[in-house]
Amino acid sequence: MYIYNSASRKKEEFIPNDPNLVKMYTCGPTVYHFAHIGNLRSYIMEDILEKYLRFAGYNVKRVMNITDVGHLSSDADEGEDKMLKGAKRENKSVMEIAKFYTDAFFADCEKLNIKTPDVVEPATNCIDEYINIINGLLEKEFAYIAGGNVYFDSSKLDKYYVFNDFNEEDLAVGVREGVEEDSNKRNKNDFVLWFTKSKFEDQALKWDSPWGVGYPGWHIECSGISMKHLGEDLDIHCGGIDNAFPHHTNEIAQSEAFLGHKWCKYWMHVLHLNTNSGKMSKSKGEFLTVSLLEEKGYDPLAYRFFCLQSHYRKSLVFSWENLDNAQTSYNKLISRIASLKPGEGTIDVEVYSQLKEKFSAAMDNDLNSSLAVTALYDVLKAKTNDATKLALIASFDTVLSLDLLAKADAKREAMKKEAAATAASFSIISESGEENAEITAKIQARQDAKKAKNFAEADRIRDELKAEGIEITDIPNGAKWKRV
Ligand SMILES: [Zn+2]
Repeated sequence: MYIYNSASRKKEEFIPNDPNLVKMYTCGPTVYHFAHIGNLRSYIMEDILEKYLRFAGYNVKRVMNITDVGHLSSDADEGEDKMLKGAKRENKSVMEIAKFYTDAFFADCEKLNIKTPDVVEPATNCIDEYINIINGLLEKEFAYIAGGNVYFDSSKLDKYYVFNDFNEEDLAVGVREGVEEDSNKRNKNDFVLWFTKSKFEDQALKWDSPWGVGYPGWHIECSGISMKHLGEDLDIHCGGIDNAFPHHTNEIAQSEAFLGHKWCKYWMHVLHLNTNSGKMSKSKGEFLTVSLLEEKGYDPLAYRFFCLQSHYRKSLVFSWENLDNAQTSYNKLISRIASLKPGEGTIDVEVYSQLKEKFSAAMDNDLNSSLAVTALYDVLKAKTNDATKLALIASFDTVLSLDLLAKADAKREAMKKEAAATAASFSIISESGEENAEITAKIQARQDAKKAKNFAEADRIRDELKAEGIEITDIPNGAKWKRV
């Protein structure tokens, strides 16, 4: 399998440190508000990565953090604390806010068929881990204390700009809009590991530390949580592209300085979901959540389908029209699968492996999910029996997670009920009042043949009845008969 590694800016063959276990880390949500569907695009594509690794035969241990403390509204070390901001807005405690939005996040994930990672760790659970790393960094002189806070010293590194698809100017925090430079910093790229001097008097969550009562910086939590559960060597780290800098850059800086060796082999970043007016955000325009999609009558899985139809390294433009198209294609796909007959034939092993190979080839090439969806349509078009097709669809759907077979089953059931209801409303009337079960059954059989568009059979039954001296006249929703 080949995957684009943002750290090398190349497509590389994926070779985990331990061939039997892939160690995967995902930056989780900051739980101060609902996730918008742009955030959820990243989680959908990371879910696809995890499921495809399993499909390809790897064991995977996946860890995700929940940021429930210390993430400031700017990605730099300035601005308001996001959690505190949420708590103030809703008149709740920080812990209540964290609980509420963590639950909301996982409820959205469930609707989108995003599997919960093996380990989900709230940042507030791992204070000892952060203190241990910060201690190590101070001992190795990669960190310093200034103005009551502990800072990482970026000048001690040979290389800091790891994801330098950015201009140096963009890296200069001081020039960002509305952000004041922290005068305690020795270098512009230094960042806070531990705050004791919070500018928020009502900072609710604080812990004792060797440097005084305070709370951790945002970046340290992912290094601490990853090392706690996955050890010193990480195979793949994922996140939205907006996490690449400064968050992931700082994670690498502090982790490798602390460990004294390379930390993570592969970095995967999912691009933004844009609207026609630019990057989607919580503050701009309509706040697009999974609940809003449902309120407007969309199936959340149609949104998942929409995401899968484009590559994760391309930004994707969301519009209601695009979502309508995805919903329509999704419905058509389900209908086509519903027209396959379960239990028809036995699996053709050769065809099965050929078509499965197409799917794998697409996914092996940097998770080309849109070509993988094409491979799914190829299955529907293939000249093979329905058993083979259904087995392939079931297999692909362990990765795509579009509930294809369950929805097709439901569709088949609904069609059956509809047919039964139509049949029930078909009335057979004897003009003379005579009751005759045999004649009634024949007229019903003629009606069934007509419904199945088997007109030859319908005419045959009609002629047979005529030969017996029975004349049938069609009426709306039924037929009447008499002896002639
Ligand atoms: Zn992170």
